Formats: sequence, C-alpha cells, structure tokens
Amino acid sequence: MARTQYATVLRDFDWPRLVKMADDSPCSVHDCVRQTMAGDSPRHSVYLGSVLGLSPSGKYYTGFANGNVTRPEAKRDTAWYAAMDRAAEKYGGSIDSGEHDPCDLYLSLPCPNYKPATFAVAAADVDGVPS
Ligand SMILES: [Zn+2]
Repeated sequence: MARTQYATVLRDFDWPRLVKMADDSPCSVHDCVRQTMAGDSPRHSVYLGSVLGLSPSGKYYTGFANGNVTRPEAKRDTAWYAAMDRAAEKYGGSIDSGEHDPCDLYLSLPCPNYKPATFAVAAADVDGVPS
C-alpha cells in the first residue's frame, strides 16, 4: 500500500523540475549566506499546491480536529503524506506547510549557495591573503 503510494507521488510530481524551481526561487534569507533568526540554515521552497487539491481525501484536518474525515480517508492520507515526505527526502528536501495557510504545501530544500557562518568568518579573517 505505502509502496504503491510512493510510486504514485514519484510519478505525479516532476521532482527534478521542482528541485530546480526551488533552487531558482528566492532564498529564505536575502543573500543566501546567513542563518535565519531562528538559527536555521537558509532554504529555498517551491509551492506544490493545496492539501485540498493534492491529498487523497482533499480535506484539511488536524489530530485534534478531524470530524470531517473518515478512518479510511485518514489512512490513505497518512500513506500519501509519508510517501510525499519520502519523495522529498530522496531529493534532500522536506515537505513543509505554509506559514500563512496550513493547507499550502511546499517542497523545501537547503540553500544551494549556503556556506556555514564559521567558514565565512574564517574567510574574512584572512582577507587579502591569497588562498
Ligand atoms: Zn539561498
């Protein structure tokens, strides 16, 4: 069941193209080199769509507010989310919900240009010295 769902999400989305689109999208920090205020590494994201259009049930619910979904629907959705996470991980990313609308799903990938701050500081310390 889960294996079938994984094959389906691999087929339903053009993952290599989504990765390219994410890499080309604006960085979570403007210059791709600093960590976010929360100390996270910068990331690039691409919008996948709404849960309402993507998930098998087409419904949004949470663990504590799920009266709108049947048990079989929830089971299919759980398998679908797991398959989406696995597909994203295959490309080094994750599936994130939107900050403003939790129905929005994004493929989020580490910034391709990010160098850890320690490296940037070390480079600045030897400014003017050819490497
Ligand atoms: Zn970046």
